[in-house]
Amino acid sequence: MQITLPEAAPAIRERPLAGKTALITGSTSGIGLGVAEALAEQGAGIVLNGFGDPQTIMRTRDRLAMEHDVEVAYSGADLSDPAAIAEMMAYARDVLGPVDILVNNAGIQHVSPIGDFPTAKWDAILAVNLSSAFHTIRAVLPEMMQRGYGRIINVASAHGLVASPFKSAYVAAKHGVVGLTKTVALEAATCGVTCNAICPGYVFTPLVEKQIEEQARAHGIPADKVVTDILLASQPNKRFATVEEIGALTAFLASPGAASITGAALAVDGGWTAH
Ligand code: NAD
Repeated sequence: MQITLPEAAPAIRERPLAGKTALITGSTSGIGLGVAEALAEQGAGIVLNGFGDPQTIMRTRDRLAMEHDVEVAYSGADLSDPAAIAEMMAYARDVLGPVDILVNNAGIQHVSPIGDFPTAKWDAILAVNLSSAFHTIRAVLPEMMQRGYGRIINVASAHGLVASPFKSAYVAAKHGVVGLTKTVALEAATCGVTCNAICPGYVFTPLVEKQIEEQARAHGIPADKVVTDILLASQPNKRFATVEEIGALTAFLASPGAASITGAALAVDGGWTAH
């Protein structure tokens, strides 16, 4: 019997993402910026997105382009608005060509018991953390499948795998992201397109800094107590993951060496979800 093996992944080059275009949502800060940095270092052209001080964003854009010798563009699209997402996707294509690597990273949080959870916060979290990934994937997937190459990486969370109280919208959205990831992986599996979710535990970013301040106020305890007794209580390695670690995994998932990894939800949580 003769078995035809699929073509081996091309050899890993020094800048394996040279010539590729990566769009990273929510990349003006925190994890998204770390991911943009890691992908630019591997040679990918970058489309940044997110909110923030316009001058700081322009400085980040210019620094990334200079340091890594890649093209960098920026879209300020509000990801809670499907029409703005469609415009961002068209802009990315016009400026840097078809998107090869899509990183759905933008996310927001609100912590409150369900009985008091504001409906508007629920809607906003579902829109930014989950629906925006549907809209961006929908815009790029058919073309990726046609071209026979694509990498979709969704930044979910340990809260995409397990729950915590008072984070109903966030946990629901992140579980949704993991489900969406698996569905996209199955639809695209024979076309050279992979789709994976990264599930970080706590990473020290502005999103978490805000939670620390809020919890310190709510419980009347100092910030360092919130970190040790609340946030890192469930993280067995007792330290925050870093944006560089998430960037490194994203760069690997985007590389030729990760061609067979698809539909996975990869925990980067110091052992949290091993419990
Ligand atoms: P962050 O607050 O530092 O960054 C969030 C980014 O999303 C920013 O660039 C912000 O401008 C952008 N953003 C927010 N709302 C937006 C909107 N409506 N339209 C466009 N952009 C918008 O947060 P982070 O900690 O870097 O989080 C990034 C992702 O990682 C999120 O999806 C978050 O849920 C996930 N995550 C974070 C942690 C953590 O501990 N920090 C853990 C697990 C998962």
